[in-house]
Amino acid sequence: MELYVFSPYKNIVMQELITQLTEKAGVTSEQAHKAIETIKDFVKEKFPNFFETNVDFNAVLHNRNSVKSIYEFFHGRYHKIPRVSEMNRGGIVEEKNDLFQKMFRDIRDSEKEYYKEKDNLLLHEDLLPFHELSNFLKYFSINSYVSDILSTLCVENKYFPASTCFPFSKKIFLTTHGQLMPCERIDYKYSLGEVNEGVFLNISQIVQQYNAYYKCLEKYCRHCYLYRFCGLCMFHLENLKKEGTEKMVCHYFHNQKNFQFKLSRIFSFLEKHPNDFFKILEDIIIVS
Ligand code: SF4
Repeated sequence: MELYVFSPYKNIVMQELITQLTEKAGVTSEQAHKAIETIKDFVKEKFPNFFETNVDFNAVLHNRNSVKSIYEFFHGRYHKIPRVSEMNRGGIVEEKNDLFQKMFRDIRDSEKEYYKEKDNLLLHEDLLPFHELSNFLKYFSINSYVSDILSTLCVENKYFPASTCFPFSKKIFLTTHGQLMPCERIDYKYSLGEVNEGVFLNISQIVQQYNAYYKCLEKYCRHCYLYRFCGLCMFHLENLKKEGTEKMVCHYFHNQKNFQFKLSRIFSFLEKHPNDFFKILEDIIIVS
């Protein structure tokens, strides 16, 4: 369970806080979590307005909890609806892989299970099928042409495997250790440069690195039915860094059958909630 004050660096700040508590205060990670739990209750009690507007929760699903237990805990104790995510598949050392597989839980299954309950707390806009529909419309509606004028005007479009942002095209993130990252959501091993006495960026090395990743991905993506609209960041794929030496895995790969199933799921949801179509186009997909 994690508490964060709204910030793009929420998870990293949280992890750093736990590390510092374990290192500097000499407590175990379990004790650090308990200490943070106490701080949450303290903030809620002493600064209720701040808590109401500035504090939100992010929880990770695993084999000892469920979407239901997470929602009920946070709603019961803090009157907040948390954001739930799966365990990150990146950066798992090989000898811990079996343990990771045992702990990993698919968020879709857990949410489906909870959805069956009549008095569930799930918000319609937070449902996975709603996100799936939004993502689909982002790439397959008139809005996608309007919001991406450049490629609409191009006679020939170039497509890159997966949907990763180009380095520094949207953001730049500097870690407390001086590493320059293209984003705050990816593993530090993908840092692109550093800031010490000066700024160190090796552009040709970055280009080479990205080209190597794309070359490795291309083999999979060219056979994938989600190609061009998977919305996936390649840095979240397993073994991307070890391309050529070990098999990279994309758990989201869709063959024709999976893709048909996905489309039928999307359109069934849309049939049930036709107003979502307009809501998504008008409120969620931002035209830049
Ligand atoms: S989902 Fe498909 S297109 Fe996206 S990265 Fe995986 S293999 Fe490539």
